[in-house]
Amino acid sequence: MPNYRLLLACAATLSFTVALVAQPAPATKPAVPAHPIEAAPKALAPNVEKQATLKSPAPPKEPAITFNSVHVDGRYIAMTFDDGPSAALTPKLLDLLATHHIKATFFVIGENVAEHPEIVARAAREGHEIASHSWSHPNFAKISQESVRSQLQRTDDAIKSAIGKSPTLLRPPYGSITEREKRWIHDEFGYDIILWDVDPLDWKRPGSAVVRNRILKETRPGSIVLSHDIHPGTLEAMPSTFDELEAKGFRFVTVSELLAMASPVTPYPKAETIGKGAAKAAPPAVPASSPGG
Ligand SMILES: [Zn+2]
Repeated sequence: MPNYRLLLACAATLSFTVALVAQPAPATKPAVPAHPIEAAPKALAPNVEKQATLKSPAPPKEPAITFNSVHVDGRYIAMTFDDGPSAALTPKLLDLLATHHIKATFFVIGENVAEHPEIVARAAREGHEIASHSWSHPNFAKISQESVRSQLQRTDDAIKSAIGKSPTLLRPPYGSITEREKRWIHDEFGYDIILWDVDPLDWKRPGSAVVRNRILKETRPGSIVLSHDIHPGTLEAMPSTFDELEAKGFRFVTVSELLAMASPVTPYPKAETIGKGAAKAAPPAVPASSPGG
């Protein structure tokens, strides 16, 4: 859809312009820190921003608050499970993850958290990351800012009530979110926006073998793998998926851990390409209207 891409590009340009004026931009750090996420003191940002304005007028392709995958040294990946918790399936998945000593990330629906806080508490207790996937799974690009804010706040509250702390990551339902929303959500809630680069389309219920094979075929070091712990076929796919990913030498971390491992893509990246660890945020993979996520 060329028109849509053009629109996205315009929105990205616009939001970057706004960011330069009003917002310390983590995408414009002049040097690559050893630990990019931690080493981004906000007090330094205005100077950094000024330099970047002079040296690199071209806007970044994508804000560094959005991630489809992460450039890492080592075969680390993040398995992510959306739309739960499910009373029937999530506990079974937690059992399986425990057997494999795998840490995963759950992008939970606030409504479901309120209904089954004990499952979310167990997941957090067992080392998994709990992240926001909205209160009731609306398309953020099609609802008001006030509605989005309410969706996020209620979910944040429910998660905090269940596990004692707020999430730091958001996956918008369907992966659908505007550039403007990314910015104000990041400003207000502090969330990084997490999409994915591996999508087995398990919500179409293609059968467990297909889900497994798609994941095995697409997963690379630094991948963020999308699936859903509300579909029985996904659960059925996971034992052999985990076995085979392990056989390929992959190691499983939470999304926040993966972000913290981000390494520069090149030894001397230009200012506009230095984001939070120069992690990739590949625009073509953004599924603006996919039922995935
Ligand atoms: Zn979803």
